[in-house]
Amino acid sequence: MSQGTLFDKVWDLHTVDVLPSGQTQLFIGLHLIHEVTSPQAFTMLQDRGLKVLYPQRTVATVDHIVPTENQARPFADVLAEEMMQALEQSCQDHGITFHNIGSGKQGIVHVIAPEQGLTQPGMTIACGDSHTSTHGAFGAIAFGIGTSQVRDVLASQTLALAKLKVRKVEVNGTLPPGVYAKDVILHIIRTLGVKGGVGYAYEFAGTTFEQMSMDERMTVCNMSIEGGARCGYINPDAITFEYLKGREASPKGADWDRAVEWWQSIRSDTDAVYDDVIVFDAQDISPTVTWGITPGQGIGIDESIPGLDHFTDTDQPIASEAYKYMDLQPGQPIQGTKVDVCFIGSCTNGRISDLREAAQFAQGHQVATGVKAFVVPGSEQVKQQAESEGLHHIFEKAGFEWREPGCSMCLAMNPDKLQGRQLSASSSNRNFKGRQGSASGRTLLMSPAMVVAAAIKGEVADVRQISKASS
Ligand code: SF4
Repeated sequence: MSQGTLFDKVWDLHTVDVLPSGQTQLFIGLHLIHEVTSPQAFTMLQDRGLKVLYPQRTVATVDHIVPTENQARPFADVLAEEMMQALEQSCQDHGITFHNIGSGKQGIVHVIAPEQGLTQPGMTIACGDSHTSTHGAFGAIAFGIGTSQVRDVLASQTLALAKLKVRKVEVNGTLPPGVYAKDVILHIIRTLGVKGGVGYAYEFAGTTFEQMSMDERMTVCNMSIEGGARCGYINPDAITFEYLKGREASPKGADWDRAVEWWQSIRSDTDAVYDDVIVFDAQDISPTVTWGITPGQGIGIDESIPGLDHFTDTDQPIASEAYKYMDLQPGQPIQGTKVDVCFIGSCTNGRISDLREAAQFAQGHQVATGVKAFVVPGSEQVKQQAESEGLHHIFEKAGFEWREPGCSMCLAMNPDKLQGRQLSASSSNRNFKGRQGSASGRTLLMSPAMVVAAAIKGEVADVRQISKASS
């Protein structure tokens, strides 16, 4: 096996050919599909008389368009129902496993694949969703792809890609109280910029990530793409293996032992050479909130919105646009900004540990008058686990709505949408203009614990000042 970074090793092992364009034809071990980016791809296959080459390496779920209140079929939204039917038919025609609503395994694609043990170290993974980088938490190389690439993977199980450089993003130390994985990645993006990772894979290393659970690592890798990196990953270790052991698709018996040996061998070598290394200190990270229209426009909860002189000439126009769109002024503290909607969920922060942490802050408190707050589990398994622990009762008692699993207000391709200029405190991953369903709606990204703090106070608040129930 080649020496070097995990990225280099996995890339080399999955290289089928080098194309005349100079790109690599890369074998894709697992292809995850959903209802939004696959219908056209299946139509393109059909038009060319092609079959899915490896249906056993393709797994489908439905997430973006599913309503989180009334899931009765047919869906009230005719287009959503059409997308659902198209996916059901395509999976049936091509012999693809489909985790449909009510199967017990449905949920957001980046939540269900890890929880079923489908996502494993050393794999190459592709999915028609930008946040496929999530799967890198396991030491997989995972790419978000477009519809024509979905077609390519369905037909050939390969992708044509240019090899990336590797930047080691090291964070060391224990996180201060009230600081979570979400704050770490928002801090990294804030520092390196939303385009800072273009052309790179991010390898997240250092003691902070080594101490994180798999759920926390997924939150970090999920947002690699928001920092411009095509993928992000963490070297697999004992925490990874412990998470995977016994899961439905994980290797069993002697295969498990062989797999662990192989997974250890693909870790980055200690003498691996990186194209770039950047080091952070965990103690420098605060609970972080975005104030603008890109995930890089973030500040610590104690800070004020930066003035134009804080930005480079290149970044000043987007900062000006953000002040105007968000109706927030330079010099204004972010704390105290009134919120209308509080959303906990998404493939960034809709996992069981997110809900447990949020519930601890919600317990014994009440959602502020006039604020709509809701919790959307990332999958049917997360929902079932949360309910078995009574978390739904805690949320409901505090005034949160408890919903069915789906992408919900992350992208709002379903009935969960902001109205007009509403301002949302959201545990999701993108704060682009109009992202949450209203063309003029506004989004502040933060950790689930900070979303609870905002819900209770009715304004952006510091979670460190909210009392927490003991676990
Ligand atoms: S939760 Fe958001 S980012 Fe994640 S898969 Fe759904 S729409 Fe995409």
